[in-house]
Amino acid sequence: MALISEKMNEALNEQIKEELESGYLYLSMSFWLQEKAFGNLAHWYYVQAQEEYSHAKKFIDYIIDAGGTIELKELKKPKSDWKTIKEIIDAGLAHEKHITGKIEELWNLMEKLGELQPRSMLTWFIDEQIEEEANAQELIDKYTGFKNDQLFDHHTHRQE
Ligand code: MG
Repeated sequence: MALISEKMNEALNEQIKEELESGYLYLSMSFWLQEKAFGNLAHWYYVQAQEEYSHAKKFIDYIIDAGGTIELKELKKPKSDWKTIKEIIDAGLAHEKHITGKIEELWNLMEKLGELQPRSMLTWFIDEQIEEEANAQELIDKYTGFKNDQLFDHHTHRQE
């Protein structure tokens, strides 16, 4: 007997898609920045993309552990016609707010179904989204301070 309901299984499969699309979006940002020779910020978003794939993997591991089924969905083509660095970092924050909303929906579904097993995992994601939004906001604040693309890129660093 699986420890995951069909509804929760489907919702988590949808969330895997959201995380993979996040990775795809950040890759699109990273490659645009790389083309324009903003190497540090390109690296920042490349590392962020890898993190999104690790988020997807957490959901995948949960579903399998709980006896559910993984269904990978079709991914949306990410925006690629970026105009400015500011547009990218604003889109990054907006996207993380969207993901925070999706995690909250999963929490609400869990409560509605009375299916408590994903609680620890979802708590991790709720905490993670605080960090994700803070990181995205930090880029915007830093950019606002420098008001210069090259200086901003020069002072943007991210560890693996
Ligand atoms: Mg994520």
